[in-house]
Amino acid sequence: MLFKNIVGQDVVKKHLISTVNQNRVSHAQLFLGPEGSGSLALAIAYAQYICCYNKQPDDACGECASCKKYQKLIHPDLHFSYPFFAKDKDDVSVNYISQWRQAILENPYLGLDNWRNKLNVDNKQFNINIAESHNIIGRLSLKPFEADYKIMIMWLPEYLVASGNALLKIIEEPVAKTLFLLVAQNQELLLNTIVSRTQIVKIPKLDNQNVINYLVNVKETDLNKAQEIAYLSNGNLHTAQEFLEHQENNYHDTFVKLMRYCLQNKGLEIVDLVDELAKMGRENQKNFFKYGINIMREAILFLAQTPVLIHLPDKELDFISKFSKFLDFAKAEYIAAEFEKAHYHIERNANPKILFLDVSLMLVKLLKFNTFPAGAQHILV
Ligand SMILES: [Zn+2]
Repeated sequence: MLFKNIVGQDVVKKHLISTVNQNRVSHAQLFLGPEGSGSLALAIAYAQYICCYNKQPDDACGECASCKKYQKLIHPDLHFSYPFFAKDKDDVSVNYISQWRQAILENPYLGLDNWRNKLNVDNKQFNINIAESHNIIGRLSLKPFEADYKIMIMWLPEYLVASGNALLKIIEEPVAKTLFLLVAQNQELLLNTIVSRTQIVKIPKLDNQNVINYLVNVKETDLNKAQEIAYLSNGNLHTAQEFLEHQENNYHDTFVKLMRYCLQNKGLEIVDLVDELAKMGRENQKNFFKYGINIMREAILFLAQTPVLIHLPDKELDFISKFSKFLDFAKAEYIAAEFEKAHYHIERNANPKILFLDVSLMLVKLLKFNTFPAGAQHILV
C-alpha cells in the first residue's frame, strides 16, 4: 500500500512520514478515524514506509524486496489481527489470513459488513477473543525475520473483549523493535487501559472534494453523479463505493415515493412498495436507509437554514425544500434515528418485509397524523 494510492489525508500522511524521518516512531499508536476515512490503508502504508529499503521523501519506493512483499501483504514481519467469528475457543484470526489479505487487496476501505460477507458469517457474534490475545503475544515475541521492525496492525480493537487486557504489557513494554498500530473508529468503545497506552493519530473524515476526485479519476464516474454520491456519503469512501456499486438502484426515486405514500397514508401503494423494497437484497436495503439518514441530516440543516446546503445535488435539494414543510427538528431527528435502527436490524438479518412495514407505519403516524409512536414522547420535550 503506497501513500499516493490513498485518497486525500495529506496532513496525516505528512505527519506519519515525518515521524519516520525524524526517528520519532512511537511503539504503540492508535489510528482513530471514522469508517471510510482510510485509516486502515494509512496504517498499512505507514508500516510499508517504515520497512522500505529505499524510502522516498513522500512515499515508499514500491519496488524493493520489502515493498514487494508488503504490497501482497505477505511480509513475514507484518502481522494483522481483526474481529472474526471464533468457531471454538482456540480459534484465532490467523486462520482467516488468506480471506483477510484478499479482502484488503480488493478494497482497503472495506467496512465490517464487507468483512462479514467475506467470512460468510452473517450475523454471528464477532470478537477478538482471549486465544487471539495470546496468539498476538506469541507472534510478537519472535525476532523480526527480515525487517528492522515487526509490525502488528489490529483492525477494530473495539471488538477486544476484556481479555484484551492481556495485551497491555506488550503494548506498554513491547519486545524490542515491535510496533503496535491499532486502527479504530470509536474511542468510546475501546478499553481505556489500552487507549491510555497509545499515541493517538486522529484521522478526519474525507472532504467532499476528495471523494469526488476519487469517483471521477479512479472510478471514472461522471462529474454530476460523483458530486451527488460524494455529498450523500458524507466523507465516507466506503459508503460512496456502495452507492456507486448499486447506482442502478434509484434510491432517490424510491425514497421519494415512500415518503409521498406515507404522507398521504396510501395503504395499498405502501404495501406494494414494501414488497419491492423487501426483494432488493440486504446491501441495497442498507444503502436505502443510509440514503434516508443522509437526507434527514440534510433536512435538519435545511430547517436550520445552514448555508452548507448549497452543495446539495439539484434533485435532493428540490425534494428537501418541499419535504421539509412536513418536518420539524424533532421529527427529522426521530426519523433519522429510526432509519439507523432499521439499518442495524437489516445488517442482523431482520425480516425485511416486516421491517419496512414497521418503518412505513411509523412514517404514516408521524407525517400524516402528527403522532410520535408510543415511547417516543420524550423527544418532544
Ligand atoms: Zn521499498
